[in-house]
Amino acid sequence: MGLYDKFARLAREREQFQTSGINPFGTRIDEIYSATEGRIGDQHVILAGTNNYLGLTFNPQAIADGQAALAAQGTGTTGSRMANGSYGPHLALEQEIAAFFDRPTAIVFSTGYTANLGVISALADSSAVVLLDADSHASIYDACALGGAEIIRFRHNDAQDLERRMVRLGERARDAIIIVEGIYSMLGDVAPLAEIVDIKRRLGGYLIVDEAHSFGVLGEHGRGLAEAVGVEKDVDIIVGTFSKSLAAIGGFAVGGKDMEVLRYGSRPYIFTASPSPSSIASVRSSLRTIGQHPELREKLWHNANRLYQGLSELGYQLGAHISPVVPVIIGSKEEGLRFWRDLIAHGVYVNLVLPPAAPAGMTLLRCSVNAAHSDEQIDKIIQVFAQLKNF
Ligand code: PMP
Repeated sequence: MGLYDKFARLAREREQFQTSGINPFGTRIDEIYSATEGRIGDQHVILAGTNNYLGLTFNPQAIADGQAALAAQGTGTTGSRMANGSYGPHLALEQEIAAFFDRPTAIVFSTGYTANLGVISALADSSAVVLLDADSHASIYDACALGGAEIIRFRHNDAQDLERRMVRLGERARDAIIIVEGIYSMLGDVAPLAEIVDIKRRLGGYLIVDEAHSFGVLGEHGRGLAEAVGVEKDVDIIVGTFSKSLAAIGGFAVGGKDMEVLRYGSRPYIFTASPSPSSIASVRSSLRTIGQHPELREKLWHNANRLYQGLSELGYQLGAHISPVVPVIIGSKEEGLRFWRDLIAHGVYVNLVLPPAAPAGMTLLRCSVNAAHSDEQIDKIIQVFAQLKNF
């Protein structure tokens, strides 16, 4: 038996998509001109397939601060915070994130993936029971597997199903850990957080919210869904990433003072290198920008509404909720691939998402807008979708 034989079926399936044209699983973006434009091969494209929600990847201050840190502190830390020490800016950023959320503790991780892994695997050990939204991100599932917890999945965004399963747990519900996301990355829908908090108040349990796609996007200050719904005090831990609205790389968790203990008990915190100085510096810069410029969020939502309305007027089947993630639901994988390549050929780059990455067996053209898109760019995207509809 060959080392890679178990992937044979997957490889065959993926090869199907490689016959001609651009491969959606290995797209090379040859140049990035700005937060909204780039080049794929010969094609100049509008970037409408990123998580750069506030459009800060080319923010001049974030670039200047990142460059200054690169020159002053070097290209990388070359080690973990536990073994090799934290740099001052890691600790400063933790204080700034804690202050931003008005919480006692923030811990910085090396990616959003390791933030989930670090928090959840440490808490969800083999004695724990975790209630997970069925559409949870892979990092949440992987974290539960690493911790060894018992996993109970409830139907996506179905608070009643969660309650039924909590009730079935009896006494154990009091210590159960409920995990949901703010905005779900594929359909752009949000967790029914008010109902979930109500269940938690009545039946007990702890609540972790992954605000990866909602940080900077929702809430008066951009703190995410928990802020938007007014239930921050009921959320035990918020997990987030630097790789979307903060436009760099790294992750974080915020919580109560007792969360500090994770620094000693969380393997994904302890056994990996800390984020590089330039990334930390640009995140600190962008965090300040998010605090000082709420109009970025307004622009983002203006763009989200404009794209959603434009595509829905064309008769496309979209996700049920207006959000910066606008999924166009396509009939089949083959049709999805053809459409996706045609979009690039017409100057629009979106994400092709196939099952199992897309929920419920769907094929999606995942469009995402950001605060840096102009009205003209949004209209161009709509116009290309209009043109392709007639094919
Ligand atoms: N949580 C969710 C909900 C995500 O969508 C992602 C990334 N797509 C992550 C965590 C991981 O974040 P990162 O890519 O920064 O590791």
